[in-house]
Amino acid sequence: MILEINDLHVNAGDKEIISGLSLTIKQGEMHVIMGPNGSGKSTLAKAVFGHPGYKITSGDVLVDGKSVLGLKTDERAKLGLFLQFQDPVSIDGVKFLSFLNAAKRSYSPEMNIKGLMQEIKNTASELGMDEEFIKRSLNYGFSGGEKKKSEILQLAVLKPKIAILDEPDSGLDVDAIKVVAGSINKVSKQSNIGILLITHYSRILSHMEPQFVHIMVDGRIVESGGTGLIKTVESVGYDSFVEKAQRVK
Ligand code: ADP
Ligand code: MG
Repeated sequence: MILEINDLHVNAGDKEIISGLSLTIKQGEMHVIMGPNGSGKSTLAKAVFGHPGYKITSGDVLVDGKSVLGLKTDERAKLGLFLQFQDPVSIDGVKFLSFLNAAKRSYSPEMNIKGLMQEIKNTASELGMDEEFIKRSLNYGFSGGEKKKSEILQLAVLKPKIAILDEPDSGLDVDAIKVVAGSINKVSKQSNIGILLITHYSRILSHMEPQFVHIMVDGRIVESGGTGLIKTVESVGYDSFVEKAQRVK
């Protein structure tokens, strides 16, 4: 599967947040978007999934050459797209386990329920999640780090074709970052998932091997390259990229 974002412009209210962003992600590739706070990273992720709070004013999002802009969010998910939210919502009364079961069976109806339960339990244990969590309501009363793990558990069980992970590292301590990074690496390799990982700290990237690194400032990608860009961000921060974005404007 190929996800293409073509010259995308997105408004939140009257304000343009994404200003002509293009990016192509193929199954099996790992891309990283780094950028300062407020550069539009989460807006991009939500716009790709048709979040009603964001309006695509021009450009397109295509899966295997076909526009998905007319599809509902669940229809986009059924094509094999997955979004891990920066701030996942909690839903009291919806059991995490029932939620994950329903999601999985909606696109793999033949899934054997016993096998699925076992897979959920094993993956939760690899992530260091207590079995208690999967019996509770979705994200309800979870700490920030537990919510992140809950999202990665969903990724591992649902096995999408392309996943956008919006700051899977935020709110995690160093040990948990390593565990989460290990899980993302493992599941993406085993299931040939294309990953677009959004972060603004380089720490998680020391556990990963992205082929493509993109720096986003002011709703645009100002530079793309390899892991060398991570080193630049580590040593000098985003200042030089912000200046470049202003020169381009
Ligand atoms: P990032 O994820 O890179 O930190 P965001 O995409 O969350 O950035 O936000 C980019 C900019 O868009 C910010 O200035 C933010 O305040 C603004 N923004 C995001 N969502 C909305 C919204 N629903 N209404 C108005 N402004 C928004
Ligand atoms: Mg964000």
